[in-house]
Amino acid sequence: MEDKRELLKQPLHGIYIPILLILFGTLIFGVEYLPYSIAFIVVISSGKLYEVWNNRTSMDKSVWKEFELIDRTIIGPMTSIYRFKLNRENEILDIPTGHHVACCFTIDGKDEMRYYSPISNQFDAGFFDILVKHYEKGKVTRRLAALHEGQTAKFRGPFGKLNYEPNMAKELGLIAGGSGITPILQVITRIITNPEDHTKINLIFANETDKDILLKNEIDEIAKKYPYFNVHYTLTNPPADWDGSSGYVNKEMIEKYLPSVSNENRIFICGPPAMKKSLKEQAIELGWETDNIFCF
Ligand SMILES: Cc1cc2nc3c(=O)[nH]c(=O)nc-3n(C[C@H](O)[C@H](O)[C@H](O)COP(=O)(O)OP(=O)(O)OC[C@H]3O[C@@H](n4cnc5c(N)ncnc54)[C@H](O)[C@@H]3O)c2cc1C
Repeated sequence: MEDKRELLKQPLHGIYIPILLILFGTLIFGVEYLPYSIAFIVVISSGKLYEVWNNRTSMDKSVWKEFELIDRTIIGPMTSIYRFKLNRENEILDIPTGHHVACCFTIDGKDEMRYYSPISNQFDAGFFDILVKHYEKGKVTRRLAALHEGQTAKFRGPFGKLNYEPNMAKELGLIAGGSGITPILQVITRIITNPEDHTKINLIFANETDKDILLKNEIDEIAKKYPYFNVHYTLTNPPADWDGSSGYVNKEMIEKYLPSVSNENRIFICGPPAMKKSLKEQAIELGWETDNIFCF
């Protein structure tokens, strides 16, 4: 439901209407009061402009802005969570579900831009987190890894194509490969923190080895806490005592662990391009409509 108090933040309601009322009142009481009214209008307009300036969002879609690194947590082999500071302590990077930001470093005189899906949620104030998997020869991830607290990186955004609406699906099947878990986590967090969203969620999370499974404890905690969220893991190189699946995600896994084919259900996939392409084809062969499959 729309919050009517938000109307006062719009220029029409917060500035133009009060100014018109003051001018109208001045005309009724007498034009000789006009200089006082104008002085008063200048004071309240300056106050409003200052308020707007103070409340501006840190992230911009078209302009690169510098953000200070305030923390880095190593969470797995070659994977870290980077925390960047927002302009204000109470500011939230409230980006649409499943969207991402762009990060840029100038390397050898060339701007190298890469995308990252923030994993901080709509309640985290004053900062945003990105989870980054490092590549030995990766241009941008090597620069991020070399960043010290207090140093900055350039970001802009958000960008993305997913138009997630609460309850847009009765059941949602999610497939993530490696660091492709980041936008998938955003979707899960939005659903489980919205009591109005009753979507049942089933996730298949694919990785190389058990050591590569990012945020496994956190994901298992969610599965324990929310009965309508289930997770199934598959590994290409599983250890001897592994109780999940082995190998790449395939049709059998999609049929067994994801929701049944229906126009009321949806599948979201995120991973390396070849994985997304192959899984979309397999889902279509199983009877899923293209419109009900979304690849990040
Ligand atoms: C919409 C979107 C969201 C993304 N969100 C995230 C995120 O939240 N976290 C995250 O870690 N990454 C994410 N990525 C991937 C990220 O944008 C970069 O591609 C990645 O960090 C590598 O950048 P780089 O400059 O270090 O490597 P590059 O210099 O581009 O690549 C160097 C070499 O590294 C290897 N490499 C790079 N990427 C991959 C890969 N995906 N799979 C296998 N090998 C690879 C290859 O051998 C490649 O030749 C996202 C990508 C997209 C398109």
